[in-house]
Amino acid sequence: MMWRQSGHRHRLTRMSTRKKVHAFVRVRPTDDFAHDMIRFGSDNKTIDIHLKKDTRRGVVNNQQTDWSFKLDGVLHDASQELVYETVAKAVVAQALDGYNGTIMCYGQTGAGKTYTMTGTTENYRHRGILPRALQQVFRMIEERPTHAITVRVSYLEIYNESLFDLLSTLPCAGPAAAPVAIAENPQGVFIKGLSVHLTSQEEDAFSLLFEGETNRIIASHTMNKNSSRSHCIFTIYVEAHSRTLSDEKYITSKINLVDLAGSERLGKSGSEGRVLKEATYINKSLSFLEQAIIALGDQRRDHIPFRQCKLTHALKDSLGGNCNLVLVANVYGEAAQLDETLSSLRFASRMKLVTTEPAVNEKYDAERMVKNLETELALLKQELAIHDSLANRAHVSYDPMDEVQVAEIHSQVRRYLDGTLEEIDVINLRQIQEVFNQFRVVLTQQEQEVESSLRRKYTLIDKNDFAAISAVQKAGLMDADGHLVGETDGQGFGLGVASYSSKPGKKPKSRRMWKEQFSASAATARKEGGSSPLSGKDVEVSTSKTQLTPLSKDADVKDMVLRDRETSNIDTLPSDSPKEELRPPRPITPPSKAVAFEDFKNERGSEINRIFKENKSILNERRKRASETTQRINAIKREMDETREALDAQKALREKQGEYEKKGLIIIDEEEFLLILKLKDLKKQYRAEYQDLRDLRAEIQYCQHLVDQCRHRLLTEFEIWYNESFFIPEDMQAALTLGSSVRPGMVPVSRIVSLGEDDQDKFSQLQQDVLPEGPESISFYNAKVKREQKHSYLKSTMGLPRAQRR
Ligand code: ADP
Ligand code: MG
Repeated sequence: MMWRQSGHRHRLTRMSTRKKVHAFVRVRPTDDFAHDMIRFGSDNKTIDIHLKKDTRRGVVNNQQTDWSFKLDGVLHDASQELVYETVAKAVVAQALDGYNGTIMCYGQTGAGKTYTMTGTTENYRHRGILPRALQQVFRMIEERPTHAITVRVSYLEIYNESLFDLLSTLPCAGPAAAPVAIAENPQGVFIKGLSVHLTSQEEDAFSLLFEGETNRIIASHTMNKNSSRSHCIFTIYVEAHSRTLSDEKYITSKINLVDLAGSERLGKSGSEGRVLKEATYINKSLSFLEQAIIALGDQRRDHIPFRQCKLTHALKDSLGGNCNLVLVANVYGEAAQLDETLSSLRFASRMKLVTTEPAVNEKYDAERMVKNLETELALLKQELAIHDSLANRAHVSYDPMDEVQVAEIHSQVRRYLDGTLEEIDVINLRQIQEVFNQFRVVLTQQEQEVESSLRRKYTLIDKNDFAAISAVQKAGLMDADGHLVGETDGQGFGLGVASYSSKPGKKPKSRRMWKEQFSASAATARKEGGSSPLSGKDVEVSTSKTQLTPLSKDADVKDMVLRDRETSNIDTLPSDSPKEELRPPRPITPPSKAVAFEDFKNERGSEINRIFKENKSILNERRKRASETTQRINAIKREMDETREALDAQKALREKQGEYEKKGLIIIDEEEFLLILKLKDLKKQYRAEYQDLRDLRAEIQYCQHLVDQCRHRLLTEFEIWYNESFFIPEDMQAALTLGSSVRPGMVPVSRIVSLGEDDQDKFSQLQQDVLPEGPESISFYNAKVKREQKHSYLKSTMGLPRAQRR
């Protein structure tokens, strides 16, 4: 299992199994060993304590007299060497593989913690764990020539929650006055101001150790502090880089050798002053140490109280669940110290229950990584070059493209889109990506070009800009469906977006039906005085195929129009009067809609009609082409079928005669070969024609939309014009046009003329009364009229269903 600890350059590789904290007990040899109270099990792991009745009182407060502790080992009368082998050897060995390790000596003052950890400096044989660990580290380095391993050491003392650098006296330690403090960074916890010394050989390391020990003793004199009242942490830092340069991984580890302050509780004889202060700090830090280690072993805990004291904070990444942790409980073997012995054994057995999960500290050498990647890249480029030459490809550059190359691709894309370039050669991935990129560039440019050319010609309104839309609607430039009627500058017509509601595929109605309907509406118009607007149905009629040819060429319609002219008295109406001012006085009887429509097309509707006709002719032309293409496709298809049959026959004949084979190739005669070529050619033609047809169909659909759109526009405009020309009283029109946003013709005729007599009276009254007051009265007047109109409109709308039911 692996996880990253800090960014991508540092990670811990977990061992698959969890491990318990190892706890040992070491009994200090004595002539006065309490044989009747302390017994060791034959497994060398068990220690039993028995309290005699007479010593019980005042020692322990409960009734219990017997305890049994099972630890990882009991070291009784054990040599320093055996202690090292049992306690430290494995931890130090694993440190060189990247696992952090911590060995702590715990116990009352005088129980042998310093002896175990440091040993005596006078006698080599009595040297403790510390010098032996240093020796092991250097021996192992010698055994690993494949790795470049560096060793550094530091020596920290914590006394009354203050930190002291025991190696600060060395010249290389830097300014001695630098305050030592615990700090944290993403890589972990470190002691700021603590000198860390690089040691290349065993002897240097020993010198450092001795220097530290001396300082420890001197300090205890000069600063008046009891050396057994402080915690001392000797740290060996190991960093191992592979000598193989390609290996960018490296490991780091720390071995903390901790000589804890005496764990004895305050004597019964009431301490005070300095002793009390020391004892308080020690008690606190030792109990925090225990809490932290227990919390680390509890997988449910996510907060560990490391910062509660300097000891746990300094050891933060060395107590953690991911390191090897060993505890040595140093005890006296004498009866008088049995209470402290019991206390130390309890601590040890609690520690033993804690589990850890040792993990390797793996890091990445960024510089090596970059170098390796560069080498790899160069190698891959060579590989590519070999592949290119094997595939007979010209030299291909795989480097990032420069401006000239990008410009060349841009031009290729443009030529491809223009049709002057058949295909764009695929060279490499970078080039493909750039081609796509340039497609996007060209597309964006074209969009902008289209938009700006549209802007030059038309006034474009953002569909989401409701204010603008309503302004345009008010100005009468847009119908209810949101289609623009014409341009604001009045130079032409913007037809807006084609409506999709029309049905281009609708079956055409017969000419007869159309005629009947048209005559019927004409008749109704005559009868009801023109109150029959062309309904939606009528619009559908004109989608018929017949309608796609210009109206004037349709004989039937011509006849009908003539008949209409005969029956209605509009002979005097000049059909070619384009300007409204020139229009003669209104006829008493309005002309039929059919006749009026013809006039309208020549007059106000001429521009829309022209566009309508133009669109229709384009549509017809496309339809014709589509049908020709379809015929051609069918012909090709037939020919393909015939060719295929002929080919099959040839093949059958060949098989019957026995196939000629030469080196696995089938030999065919010329006829068959020609047939194959022909079929191939036909397929190509077929595909091309089919593509044409598809394009044509899309175009037809679009044209159809435009035609429908024009027709709708034409009819709407016609309705307005018709109403304005023949039905809305001229005086009312003038009134409505005065600064009003309503185009008179847009108001349904039936509503206008249905103004009651009272309304009419009020209307003329208003005109007489209000207008003479001056131009300021116009808006008031307009508002009044609109209110009246709305009122009567609502009245008549509500009356309409009733009228229909009748
Ligand atoms: P602590 O550090 O726990 O206060 P020390 O290590 O200073 O105790 O031990 C006190 C004395 O007992 C020292 O003189 C030390 O040499 C001696 N001593 C402790 N343990 C042993 C041992 N296992 N064998 C021989 N001498 C010991
Ligand atoms: Mg000591």
